[in-house]
Amino acid sequence: MSIAIYPGSFDPVTTGHLDIIKRAAAQFDRLIVCVMVNSEKRGLFPHEDRVRFLRTVTANLPNVEVDASPMLLADYARTRNATCVVKGLRALSDFEKEFQMALINRKLNPGLETMFLSARQNYTYLSSSITKELASYHVPLKGFVPAEILEEVQRRMEQELAH
Ligand code: ADP
Repeated sequence: MSIAIYPGSFDPVTTGHLDIIKRAAAQFDRLIVCVMVNSEKRGLFPHEDRVRFLRTVTANLPNVEVDASPMLLADYARTRNATCVVKGLRALSDFEKEFQMALINRKLNPGLETMFLSARQNYTYLSSSITKELASYHVPLKGFVPAEILEEVQRRMEQELAH
């Protein structure tokens, strides 16, 4: 059984992330979307909410599982018998860091490949941080955040970040 992991902060999940999830899920028997818990990067939404948002928007994808982990990705992959890490690449600026991470992960876990999926053109500008920036100016997030979680995400972001 082919198992892949799509790791990230997902603070919150965007339509760009969801596009990668759907495309990656079509390539593997099982895709584990994992919120990587980093105690130094607090973020905006608690991890439990990020997981809940991801579960809501992937509920119709039967081979997708959502998890959260504070472990090192290379170790987490071993515990889940995953052989591949999926990353989305938006621009050249993503490449340098991601390439370095891919090499480190393979060094730590030689059985672990990294697969890069190129962002769809209409999502290349999209990131969780840009959605926060826009929400802080009350810009409607329709199209940036999946419809099922849009209302809650918009409301809570505006409460926390409004100028
Ligand atoms: P960000 O805060 O930049 O959205 P994450 O850590 O949540 O970043 O991203 C997890 C993964 O998703 C990374 O591989 C990132 O490159 C990828 N990704 C993020 N946004 C997009 C997008 N709009 N299109 C494709 N891939 C994306």
